[in-house]
This record gives sequence, C-alpha cells and structure tokens, in this order.
Amino acid sequence: MSQSAFNTLKLNPALVKNLNSLGYEKMTPIQSESLPHVLQGKDVIAQAKTGSGKTAAFGLGLLDKLDVKRFRVQGLILCPTRELADQVAKELRKLARSIHNIKILTLCGGMPFGPQIGSLEHGAHIVVGTPGRIEEHLRKERLKLGDLHTFVLDEADRMLDMGFQASLDAIMSYLPKKRQNLLFSATYPEQIEAIAAKLMYKPVMVKAETAHENSSIEQHFYQVQGNDQRLRALQLLLLKYRPQSAVVFCNTKKETQAVSESLRSCGLSSVALHGDLEQRERDQILVRFSNQSASVLVATDVAARGLDIETVEAVVNYHLAHDPEVHVHRIGRTGRAGRSGLAFTFFSEREAHKMIALEDYMDQEFTADELPDESFLESSGYQPSMVTLQIDGGRKQKVRPGDILGALTGQNGIEGKEVGKINIFDFSAYVAVKRKASTAALKKLEKGKLKGRSFRVRRIRG
Ligand code: AMP
Repeated sequence: MSQSAFNTLKLNPALVKNLNSLGYEKMTPIQSESLPHVLQGKDVIAQAKTGSGKTAAFGLGLLDKLDVKRFRVQGLILCPTRELADQVAKELRKLARSIHNIKILTLCGGMPFGPQIGSLEHGAHIVVGTPGRIEEHLRKERLKLGDLHTFVLDEADRMLDMGFQASLDAIMSYLPKKRQNLLFSATYPEQIEAIAAKLMYKPVMVKAETAHENSSIEQHFYQVQGNDQRLRALQLLLLKYRPQSAVVFCNTKKETQAVSESLRSCGLSSVALHGDLEQRERDQILVRFSNQSASVLVATDVAARGLDIETVEAVVNYHLAHDPEVHVHRIGRTGRAGRSGLAFTFFSEREAHKMIALEDYMDQEFTADELPDESFLESSGYQPSMVTLQIDGGRKQKVRPGDILGALTGQNGIEGKEVGKINIFDFSAYVAVKRKASTAALKKLEKGKLKGRSFRVRRIRG
C-alpha cells in the first residue's frame, strides 16, 4: 500500500520523518482523501469524526506551511470544547516535534484570563481555542490575525449545536482575506453548508466512512411506554449487563439529573454531565468516569461533545436521537479499537417513524427486543472497580504524576498495578486506585508528603 504512505505527499521531509518516528506508517482514509488537497492550499470540507486521524489531516497542512522564524499567529483552530482543544493541541505538538521553537497556544473558555493574556503577549504560531474566548481576545485586540494563513473549524457541527454561530460569524470578520479554510465536521447539516458558503472559496469536499463497522457494536432496541418504563428499562439493562462504563444519552439537563439520581438510589454509581456545570465540577465528573470510578455517565448530546473516553462498554439512547447521524455518532463511542460494544436504544410508539429513518440510514432492519426479566431489579447494584482520591494540590504546587505514584507506592504503600489514571489540574489532582487498596492508599497519601509538603486528601464517594 505504498500509495497511502506519507512520503507520497509533497510534505516537508522533516515532518515525514517525525511521522515515521511516531509510528504513523500509512495515512488513515480521511488523511489520504484530504491531505493532497490541503497541501495544495485548497479550501477543504472534510466529513470525519474524532478518532479518524483528522487532526493530522489539517495539522500537517498547517505545519507544512508554517514559517517558525515568523513569530506571528499563522494558524487558528476552533474547537467546540476545551477537552477537544487540549486534545488537538497535544496532537499538534506531537506532529510538530521536528520544528524547533514552535509555540502552540490553547485559549479556552472556563479558564482564567490572566495567563492567556500573558501568553498572547509572548506570542504564538498556532492558536487552538473555543469560539467564545477567541472572539473575546480578538475584540479586545489581544489576538491579532494579520499573518494568519490557515483557519480550521474542527467539529463544526458540534460548535453550531452548542450555539456558537454568532461567535463564529464575529471571528470570521477578523480573518485576513487571503487564507486557507479547512472545515471538519462529523455530520453535514444545512447550517454547515451555509457557513461553508460564507467562509470558503471553491471548497473540495471529502468524506471518509463515518458509519462504524456494524459487527463490533451490538445494537438492541426496546419499545417503551412512558418515562417510568424508560427508567425501569435502563435499570434492568444495567443490572443485567453490569458495564464498568456506560454513557446514557438524555435530552435535557433536568432529565440527566433525574436519571442519574434514580440510578444512584438503586445502587449504581452514576454521574450527570450537562451544560450548566461549573468547569471544576465538569472536570471532576469526567475524571471519575474516565478513570473508572463512576460506572455510568448520564449526559446530554451537547455536554458529551468532544469527550475523549477510550473504553465505553455500553451506550444507551434513553430517547432515540432526532437524527440518524447523531445516533451513529453516539453509538460510535462504544466498540472502538477492535473491542465489542453494546448499544441500547429506547423508543416509544410515537418514535416509530424515527426508527424507519434510522433503518434506512443504516441500511439494516431492527426489531424490538424483550427487556431483561424484572427479577434483575431485585439484584443489588455494583460498584466500580476504582475509587478516586482527590488531592488539594496540583500543577501550581508543582505536583506531578510521578510524585503521586511515588508517594502511593513507597514503603508500606500499595502496588503500582493498583494505581490507575492520574489527572492533574491547576490546584488539585485526582488519582484512581483499586477499590480494595483505597483505604491504604488514602492513609499513605494523608501521612506522606508530596514535594515535601502535606496536602489534604479525600476519597470521592460514588
Ligand atoms: P484524531 O482523529 O485526530 O483525534 O486522531 C486519532 C488518533 O489517531 C490520534 O491518537 C493520532 O495520534 C492517531 N493517528 C492519526 N493519524 C495516524 C496515522 N496515520 N497512523 C497512526 N495513527 C494515527
């Protein structure tokens, strides 16, 4: 498959060499579809989702053109969420390892302004950020785009869903006339078409297969009557299959909270994620879910956007999605990377027409399954395998993952294999430990020191 190797592209050899060292041997489908056009400087609309290799598809084009000696913002990438922006910046830094002194800056909402203003004063080559915050820095003239050559909209459909249309319009008015525009979106609704028409010049459209291989995701559909039955159906399925990690998609914030509370009251470990949370609460919920110390994440579509969660055993559509593409996108969170996944979907009689649309879209026939036996409701809930410990010290106190691991596993400590994910934020850190080792781990951290200091530590109750 020499055709899909990166060295077939007109790409800076140093970038190709770095790709080889990263172990990127062949282009992913979206890369081989889009990169030739991107490298020719054309405007490109690419239909692709997270996990397809899309960051490299726009990132390599941007890096290939970048003049590192010119210390001005040359590329701007807009993402719908901070998580996604962080993920994109991380991948770009990896791709740019061969370019010395390159500065990639993230500017996201929910973060303090001070450090961002400082960083902008120091300058950057590439800015990755969320629309609201970027707009604000532009308006206050802290961010200047006079030297910009590449503008990227990443997950454009999600940005619109999240109500960023006005910010996008405002940002566009600051872009220089001569520039390359790259638009990536998992779906291609009409509003995206409208944005593309306003933003882009003769765009080339490319598409990589978005539907997942049906074989890795086992879909089950259940017909339900009313919300009580929905909730009971959810409890039954969770109690029967007992997934270590499941995402439940609800329509509203209120519903996420109510469903999550009901699950907790029947002995399941559940957290709710919705748009109204403070950044700190959101961080904590995501940490607990991704480190497997909360088994169920109940979320709205909007809140779940941009989440980078590797292993979800099951996805539950508490209501059938309005749009078949959204359905495919949701269930694509399970059955990743060769693993098998379960997708449960509830639908009412009134939603039968949506089922037909979904069958057409997925080119499959679906029949309603029977719910698990009611006796499962009598079985007790189950606990997640991990427990999260929160430490009241973080990046600002120079706490690093190695310090926490060292403090946990030192003399009379727990074993390294009992320590899970470690997440460090500015003023706090979270470490997941195996449930049976959690008491010992807590004691060890309470008594021990990190960076020569004692920090308050607590166990987060599920
Ligand atoms: P993305 O869709 O940009 O979030 O990328 C998904 C993952 O695929 C990232 O972890 C990349 O590091 C990885 N990746 C991207 N392109 C390639 C490639 N050509 N070969 C191997 N891995 C890749």
